This record gives sequence, structure tokens and C-alpha cells, in this order.
Amino acid sequence: IRVRPLTCTETRRGDQQVVHSLGDGAVHVSAARHDATFGFSAVFDAGASQEAVFEGSGMRQLVELAMNGFSCTVFAFGQTGSGKTYTLMGPLAQSEAQPASPALLGLMQRSFTCLLEQSRSRGSDLALSASYLEIYNEQVRDLLSPGPPCALPLRWSKTRGFYVENQLSVEFESLETIVSLLLQVQSIPPPAGSQRRRTSAHALNRHSSRSHALLTIHVRSRAHHPPTLVLQASACPSKQGTLCFVDLAGSERVKETGSSGELSVEANSINRSLLALGHCISLLAKPRGKRTHIPYRDSKLTRLLARSLGGSGITLMVACISPSSRCLSETLNTLHYASRARRVTTRP
Ligand code: ADP
Ligand code: MG
Repeated sequence: IRVRPLTCTETRRGDQQVVHSLGDGAVHVSAARHDATFGFSAVFDAGASQEAVFEGSGMRQLVELAMNGFSCTVFAFGQTGSGKTYTLMGPLAQSEAQPASPALLGLMQRSFTCLLEQSRSRGSDLALSASYLEIYNEQVRDLLSPGPPCALPLRWSKTRGFYVENQLSVEFESLETIVSLLLQVQSIPPPAGSQRRRTSAHALNRHSSRSHALLTIHVRSRAHHPPTLVLQASACPSKQGTLCFVDLAGSERVKETGSSGELSVEANSINRSLLALGHCISLLAKPRGKRTHIPYRDSKLTRLLARSLGGSGITLMVACISPSSRCLSETLNTLHYASRARRVTTRP
């Protein structure tokens, strides 16, 4: 759980702080008619630094597991404005000309640094590449492909499970390359040209949390052999791990109704994905013996996350909440959601 500080607006308005960390993974919510304590593996309160979250959440271990061939996923969940993007990427409005202070970099950049350090110390034995997708209106789109966004088919195969056909992936060997890739998609409007403009306007929309964004780092490592063992190399297979970062759309939109036209289509698609995700998590949280069929096929999001959620993946969920009294009901929803997610076990 990560509790962000009260924002200036919230403080000025005189919002009460209703969420308190009690230490040892306990978080307490106290307001007029609510008084509840929840337990988690870790709680980071307003004072926690980005580094503390990286080190204390298990993120570093997740990076190491990805290098050892596991499928790892971290997803940020919570209402809009609760700190999901901040936790994953740090404060926005960064540009290449004005990089954010290193202390504020999020889980993503810290993980990239960690991977690249390892890659350097292992020589050429580690190959890193990235793919970046978003799910918008129940369509999977490739954020790395130039030109206007187009939907990619989501397929299933016995060996690969669910996968996206024709997605681009870009190799990277430096922090600059991967970070500028993110920035291109996130914030910098590309040069003039109507097609690129449209892409950029649409990429900027994502800041209003109307889509789910999935960045996947593919980590391929070849086992290292002294020259005399080269002949046996084939007996020692290479490893292929993944590290996937998921920035989910704002959870409050699940209840959003009454908006018209394009917005209502969006709200419905977000509903569908987040409700499906919640439903899968609830079913997965039941003891194995009592489990029924898990409806991953209900949404694109759950199909893409199937392995992370209940299969062979290793998953970290960072639930983000605001401490403000005004966000109380969303905060309680998020805490209940996270408590259910905590009971899910996978078989890595
Ligand atoms: P979300 O992605 O969940 O919609 P953001 O990450 O954009 O929310 O955060 C909303 C605002 O709160 C941003 O201005 C962000 O910089 C600020 N913020 C979020 N978490 C923190 C934090 N831990 N410390 C300082 N500011 C934060
Ligand atoms: Mg966000």
C-alpha cells in the first residue's frame, strides 16, 4: 500500500487525514462512521521516498527474478490522482531537457538501472528489449508504432498463452534510450504532422487515466560458458524472463455512468476491464479446492494479465491511496480490493 501526501489543494481545503500507517504493514482508516485496520506486506506512508518503495516493496527481487527467467509483473491500482503514475515513473512533466531529480525517479527507472547494471557486469550475455501497449476502449494498441494508433489482435496459443500479434519491441542498452522511449509516448508532443499529432493527443489523454498501459521488458540471458564447455552449451538453455509494469486506469471510473458519446464508451470499457480484473481476483482468492473457472476471457486486460494473476508469474500489486477524508469511500474500496488480491497465490 502506498499512501501519498495530502496535495496542496487538499490541505488548503482543510481535508482531514483519515489514513494512518501503524507500522508492521498495518494501515488504519478512521473517520466519522468508519474505523478499520488492514494488514499488508508493506505500507508506505506520505514520508516514504521513492527509493524506500523500490527497496521495501520487493521490486528489486522482482527484477532479479526476471533476470532468472521468471515472468514478473508489477501493477499500480487505485483511483485517479492516488499516485499510481508517480509510483511507477515519478512526477510527470519531465522532458529530456528537464529531467526529474534522480531521487524522485519511480519503480520503472530504478528497475531499468538495476537491469542495465547487471547487463553491464555480465557482458553481452543479457539482452534487453521493451514493448509498450495500451488497452483503450477494449482495443490493444501498440504505443511504440509510429503513426495513428491501430488495434492489434490478441491471440491464444497452447505454448504462449495469450499474446499480442505483431507488437513492436525495441532493444535498448542504455537508460537514455529506454527513458526517452517512455517520454516520447508520455509527454513530449512529436514534431508537427497531423498523423503524429493525433497519436500524441491520444497519448496525452492517457494522463487522464482512461486507458491501461503495459510496459514489458523482455530479458534474455544466455548462460555463460568457459571456452572448453562450448560444446555443452546447448544443454544449458538460455533464460527468457519478463518484467511488466501495468499502470491501470483510475478505479473510480468503474462507477462512472451518465456520460455521453465517446466518454461513455470509454467508461464502459474501463468498467469492463476493471470489473473483470476484480472478478478474477475474487475468484482466484478462494482456496484452490473451491475455485471455479476463472473468466480471463472476459476482457483484454485479464487476458493479457492471465499469467501474472493466476498462472506461473510473480506479481507485485501496489495499491495507491489518498489520505484525504474526501477520498474515503474510494480508499476503502481500494483497501478491500488489495486485501483480496493479497490472498491470490501463483505457481512460479
Ligand atoms: P494517478 O496516476 O494515480 O492518477 P498521479 O501519480 O498522477 O496519480 O498523482 C497525482 C498527483 O499527486 C501528482 O501531482 C503527483 O505528483 C502527486 N503525488 C502522487 N504521489 C505522490 C508522493 N508519494 N509524493 C509526492 N507527490 C505525489
Ligand atoms: Mg496516472
